[in-house]
Amino acid sequence: MTIADNLEHLHQQIHQACRRANRSDSEVALMAVSKVHPAEAILEAYAAGQRLFGENRVQEFQEKSQHLVTLNDAEFHLIGPLQSNKTTRAAELFHAIDAVDSLKIAQRLDAAAKALGKTLPILVEVKLSHEESKHGLAPEELPTLLAEIESLESVQTVGLMTVPPWSDDAEFARPYFRDLRKLRDQSLASFPKLTQLSMGMSNDFQVAIEEGSTCVRIGTSIFGKRIMASAG
Ligand SMILES: *Cc1c(COP(=O)(O)O)cnc(C)c1O
Repeated sequence: MTIADNLEHLHQQIHQACRRANRSDSEVALMAVSKVHPAEAILEAYAAGQRLFGENRVQEFQEKSQHLVTLNDAEFHLIGPLQSNKTTRAAELFHAIDAVDSLKIAQRLDAAAKALGKTLPILVEVKLSHEESKHGLAPEELPTLLAEIESLESVQTVGLMTVPPWSDDAEFARPYFRDLRKLRDQSLASFPKLTQLSMGMSNDFQVAIEEGSTCVRIGTSIFGKRIMASAG
C-alpha cells in the first residue's frame, strides 16, 4: 500500500463514520501526522492531495521544512508539547499550535506572533485522564485559561485537543471524546470562536468522529509504523 492508497482508504472510512453520525464529510479534517517520517513522506502525501500535516517536535520539523519550501498551500500544525524556549521558532514555522496547555506558553506565542505580524491560531490541550505522564490542562482550569488567552492580541483559541490514554480498544476512548465535546460546548457561549475539536488517531478516529471530532490526527495508518520512538 502506498501513502496515496492509505489516504484514499482513510477518506472512505471517514466518509462512512460521518454517515453513521449524520455529519457531512466537510466537517472533519484529516491531519496527516508525519512525525519521525522523512520529508519525502510528506512530499508523497502532498502529491496525493494531502494539505494538512501535524508534527510534534519543533527541531525535527525545522530540519524537514528545508525540503518543503515548495509546498506553498500546505498547512503544518505543532501537535506535541512546546517548551518555552522554542516558542519563537514554533511561531515562525507552524501555521497553528494545537497543544497549548499554559498561559506562559500562550503569552510567549503571542509575543512571537506579534513580532511576526501574524495571528496564530491555537488549540488548548486538555488532559481528561489521571495519567501522570500526559500533557494537557486539567478541565477545571480551562475557563480561566481561555479568559486569559482571550486578552492576548496575536493568538486566537479556535478549539480544544486531547489525547486519551492509549488502548487498542477504540471504545475505551469514547468517554474522553465525549467529555472534550462537552467542554467545548460549554465554552462556546463565552468563546464563540472555539469551534474545533482535535481528537481521534489511527486506532480510534471513527469513534472520535461519532463524538464530534472536527480534526482527526492520523500517523500510522498513512505513513506506516514509526520505527524510532518519538518523544511526546
Ligand atoms: C503521533 C500522534 C498522533 C498520530 O498517532 P497514530 O496512532 O500514529 O495515528 C496523533 N496525535 C498526536 C498528538 C501524536 O503525537
